[in-house]
Amino acid sequence: TAAAIEDLITPQVPIRYTQHLINGQFVDAASGKTFPTYDPRTGEVIAHVAEGDVEDINRAVSAARKAFDEGPWPKMTAYERSRILLRFADLVEKHSDELAALETWDNGKTHEQAAKVELPMFVRLFHYYAGWADKIHGLTVPADGNYHLQTLHEPIGVAGQIIPWNFPLLMFAWKVGPALACGNTIVLKTAEQTPLTALFVAKLFHEAGLPEGVLNVVSGYGPTAGAALASHMDVDKLAFTGSTDTGKVVLELAARSNLKPVTLELGGKSPFIICEDADVDRAVELAHFALFFNQGQCCCAGSRTFVHERVYDEFLEKSKQRALRRVVGDPFKKGVEQGPQIDVEQFEKVIRYIRSGIESNATLECGGDRLGSKGFFVQPTVFSNVKDDMLIAKDEIFGPVQSILKFKDIDEVIRRANATRYGLAAGVFTKNVSTANTLMRALRAGTVWINCFDVFDAAIPFGGYKMSGIGREKGIYSLHNYLQVKAVVSPLHNPAW
Ligand code: ADP
Repeated sequence: TAAAIEDLITPQVPIRYTQHLINGQFVDAASGKTFPTYDPRTGEVIAHVAEGDVEDINRAVSAARKAFDEGPWPKMTAYERSRILLRFADLVEKHSDELAALETWDNGKTHEQAAKVELPMFVRLFHYYAGWADKIHGLTVPADGNYHLQTLHEPIGVAGQIIPWNFPLLMFAWKVGPALACGNTIVLKTAEQTPLTALFVAKLFHEAGLPEGVLNVVSGYGPTAGAALASHMDVDKLAFTGSTDTGKVVLELAARSNLKPVTLELGGKSPFIICEDADVDRAVELAHFALFFNQGQCCCAGSRTFVHERVYDEFLEKSKQRALRRVVGDPFKKGVEQGPQIDVEQFEKVIRYIRSGIESNATLECGGDRLGSKGFFVQPTVFSNVKDDMLIAKDEIFGPVQSILKFKDIDEVIRRANATRYGLAAGVFTKNVSTANTLMRALRAGTVWINCFDVFDAAIPFGGYKMSGIGREKGIYSLHNYLQVKAVVSPLHNPAW
């Protein structure tokens, strides 16, 4: 596989936009500063991007505030808003090739995945939310007395949104889609590792007819631009996706400033449970996918592979063979399954966890080191003999490191699978309907995938139990994050006063 990381393909895409997009205009940072975004294949700079800080966030929030308070966005008909979302989705579809290449270049994910999975999903998500825009309404409720009772579902106002680097475009869609469908305006801060694609799609949104100030995109770092957004007094709602540690920080910033409601999508340590009746070949493939997909950089990665003792040995041998066959290399090349980790920080963190696994006496079956000498490539790594109290079984590694654990019976695996501070997702692999039913109810996680993994339909919610987050995104549930409910009460018959 090492050969695949030589002779890198030069991406054939222009870097069109590197400034902030505020009030419909591309502008430099107030400070004039820029920061580099890197190609994770080489560690070389792709572009220098405007570096946002407090002043840029202030400007973006005032633009969003004005667009919300004065319109036209929240005052347009829902049908008009819906049509802009649809036109935007079509424009993105038209520019899919360029966007997929840009996403691969900035993030390191395989081009095949970006082009064939993520771009179509992005377009689908906006079609889905466009469909909601004109179907949001309150209730008429029966009263005990002489009153007419109704609820109005209104947009909250200015939404602050902070997104991570692992799925730059999809995280944009999960956040921006529902917020706009509900009539809010937005200030979005992208992750410092991956600022490029959001600027491009935000520009396309304006071409689709989005009024200025409705969607503002600021690039920059977390403790500066991100914190300014989370603590801004004029931001009415905050949505965040990232690590659990940073989630705690932004929740506190929101509380200390203006008590803006916060939704959080945080980390995970998801169990993937392979039962004794499993078809081992299929289980191996699915468990491999559940962990290694997107370089292992998924908050819902199936990072604790629990295998029933009856199939354990066969499963282990085949999982190791599968990992050894995994093609790591230039994500632009066809047939490559795994690109580099996002940056040097994540790369070093993954390597540290691999060392910790070895030191804690888990058995290193394969991998265990970097691949090549430049960029952030990590060998697909499999540990067996992993015990629940090892760091690699408890912490989120966010890399291509599979931990395989053995179990004997269902009650035991339920207890162990739930013994984590996280609760984002879980996977179950079995032919037995009653085992599936038992596990799906017993597992304390926001998503349970049965005989599948990482299926992200636009209509199904995603979010965490416990320290994996607060709230749900996608589906009808995401709308609640961006709506206020107003109760309106009036007498049915005017009393004679
Ligand atoms: P990771 O450790 O994977 O980079 P983070 O949770 O730190 O994940 O980052 C996710 C997003 O949160 C990024 O956009 C990042 O810039 C932002 N962020 C990081 N620290 C802060 C902070 N103190 N306040 C607000 N946003 C932050």
